[in-house]
Amino acid sequence: MSKDIPPRDSEDQLIRPNTLLDFIGQKELKNQLAIFIEAARQRQDSLDHTIFHGHPGLGKTTLANIVSKEMGSSIKTTSGPVIEKPGDLAALLTNLKSGDILFIDEIHRLSPVVEEILYPAMEDFKLDIMVGQGPGARSVRLELPRFTLVGATTRVGLLTPPLRDRFGIQLRLEYYKPEELTTIILRLADCLNIDITNDGALEIARRSRGTPRIAGRQLRRVRDFAEINNKGKIDLSCSDEALTLFGVDTLGLDQLDHHILRAICENYQGGPVGLQTLAATIAEEAETIQEVCEPYLMQEGFLVRTARGRMTTPKAYSHLGLALPKTLN
Ligand code: ADP
Repeated sequence: MSKDIPPRDSEDQLIRPNTLLDFIGQKELKNQLAIFIEAARQRQDSLDHTIFHGHPGLGKTTLANIVSKEMGSSIKTTSGPVIEKPGDLAALLTNLKSGDILFIDEIHRLSPVVEEILYPAMEDFKLDIMVGQGPGARSVRLELPRFTLVGATTRVGLLTPPLRDRFGIQLRLEYYKPEELTTIILRLADCLNIDITNDGALEIARRSRGTPRIAGRQLRRVRDFAEINNKGKIDLSCSDEALTLFGVDTLGLDQLDHHILRAICENYQGGPVGLQTLAATIAEEAETIQEVCEPYLMQEGFLVRTARGRMTTPKAYSHLGLALPKTLN
């Protein structure tokens, strides 16, 4: 890779906010976190174990890294599915120093055997490991340094209660307001040397489903469009033209959202339809529908989840330009 084209990872490092002050939005969460961090710092103690939960792309990983910087400690990053055996977690834990942060992304995907050894590690900073095999095997208890476990999950409901209870700090990330996303986009544009007007940024923000990761991705795609079409500075009409071309509608719904809503409206007369049936109908992973698409469709009032399955609302019909079936009239 040439010297002047940084890999995407390092570009991401450059533009990620580094302090709580730089982190835009999530005001209540930031206020609370600032208190917990300051209190731990004053006591010269490690921060209590913390879990961030919320939809993908809202800033959980970014916050974990900010916690480590604010606490002046190192961070080791891993993810639930990567830790396959208790030995993998034991190796991570025994390599930590006092005050270090162990960040486990997708923590709801830890296997039960791995979770078991996490309980005493979180509660008493002790690690129980088995030494030897067969009848001579015995359990040995090791002391661990006072570390902080930071977990992130998109599905807090899937955490087992004993694991969830061991997080002293539990913080939920919400979708961002368009004004907050506009600030994030303008700051990102500044870092990436992209010329954009406030209106141009606001238009991308409005169509980014309240999510910074989507806002960043769409800003880059609008930049591509502006460059190829010699648009110069990105303004409202440029953002609008580009996003429409890329299949993002005026409310930020993309082609997959449209497929979901259309399938329920047209194939199942507005539902209810089960998740697996819906997934098979549009040939998409059930998990993607559930985690990536549905939360925003529900928040915006296009879709409801009922005990019998997913249903579309009158708002969905009108947004798609479809006639309401008699049952919904
Ligand atoms: P998550 O871990 O919740 O999926 P990330 O922390 O990876 O989300 O954030 C996704 C992207 O959005 C990153 O590029 C990050 O820099 C950016 N981002 C998230 N939250 C903010 C914020 N509040 N301000 C600025 N950028 C943000």
